[in-house]
Amino acid sequence: SYVGIHATSFRDFLLKPELLRAITDCGFEHPSEVQQETISQAIFGTDILCQAKSGMGKTAVFVLSTLQQLDFTAAAASSDPAASVRVIVLCHTRELAFQIKNEYVRFSKYMTGAKIEAVFGGTRYDEDVSRLHSQRPQILVATPGRLKALVRDSKISLRNVKHFVLDECDKLLEAVDMRADVQQIFRATPHQKQVMMFSATLTPEVKAVCKRFMVSPLEIYVDNEAKLTLHGLKQYYATLAEAEKNRQLTKLLDDIDFNQCCVFVKTTMRAEALAKLLEGLHFPVVAVHSHMKQEERLKRYQGFKNMEKRILVATDVMGRGIDIERVNLVINYDMADSRASYLHRVGRAGRFGTKGLAVTFIASKEDTDVLNDVQKNFEVTIEPLPETIDKALY
Ligand code: ADP
Ligand code: MG
Repeated sequence: SYVGIHATSFRDFLLKPELLRAITDCGFEHPSEVQQETISQAIFGTDILCQAKSGMGKTAVFVLSTLQQLDFTAAAASSDPAASVRVIVLCHTRELAFQIKNEYVRFSKYMTGAKIEAVFGGTRYDEDVSRLHSQRPQILVATPGRLKALVRDSKISLRNVKHFVLDECDKLLEAVDMRADVQQIFRATPHQKQVMMFSATLTPEVKAVCKRFMVSPLEIYVDNEAKLTLHGLKQYYATLAEAEKNRQLTKLLDDIDFNQCCVFVKTTMRAEALAKLLEGLHFPVVAVHSHMKQEERLKRYQGFKNMEKRILVATDVMGRGIDIERVNLVINYDMADSRASYLHRVGRAGRFGTKGLAVTFIASKEDTDVLNDVQKNFEVTIEPLPETIDKALY
């Protein structure tokens, strides 16, 4: 059973009526645990460092608390058209940027004058420049590389930024080059601002790096790492030889009565090949990976979200943050290369406490090591795949 939802109401936060109306439209009745602990503080401009399980609703924490604090009236607009941005949200993948933008659009639908844009690499730079110029967004969701370039070329000014958000902050700060981009963008914003960072996983090292961007942040850890698991998600593994994977996969896809399924593989080439193979067997499948034109990637992702296809074959590019409600089956055709990556992948199923199923293929010593590492560090038992799976479990 799922215990993350409390019997409080979004009304308790005393949010603007136009925001409450949108929340109701989105079907949110009660705030999740992390929302309950964080929103009431975040709307007062406090810096926030927040770690909470995947699928607990971290996005709404920063979307709602920034929308609550912004003034979209014409009188509040900047006189400099290049300096319209009040909120910067940084994230590490384009799909996530696109998704966060959509969350802002959804929750700001009754806020007249609110403008949200997203910029990310792999799309035409000059189009970003002209769109920013004509739209003058108050909220900008971005991947670091593209935004850094826009700032460097003075295509945009960040001097009116009041809120600076990092989603999946560990990913943004772990890699040295991405961290450098984040730092450069951060330096282009005013000293006085609210900083909020979110992740499902935070090592002590990353936590320390995060804190250097903040002033006495409110630290919210909704669960310790050992409890970082997904209620309602049933997890299995199957030990097999590489050559047996295709047969086992098609058997699972035939036997399990799933809504939508994500199949994770380790390389782009394997994603293409596996999708082709499944397509040949008439499975409704689509592949998404990083060696694909940006527009094509978004089109396919959106198509999957719209239920045009039921099976998504993906590399780790899709493993994090992406939220597709109907996914209730994740198959690790190739095991993830770390326990964090495993957690993020299987977190695609069982979102927000709904039921789901994850099946991992174990075909090497390395696979076994990751499996053991997951079980040692997270509060979870991954059982051998049984002959038949009880339908009530997913
Ligand atoms: P996280 O970032 O913590 O992994 P998300 O913000 O992506 O989680 O939210 C996961 C899913 O839960 C989304 O589909 C979101 O719309 C939904 N959700 C979030 N908060 C609530 C709520 N209070 N009530 C119902 N659904 C919610
Ligand atoms: Mg998230």
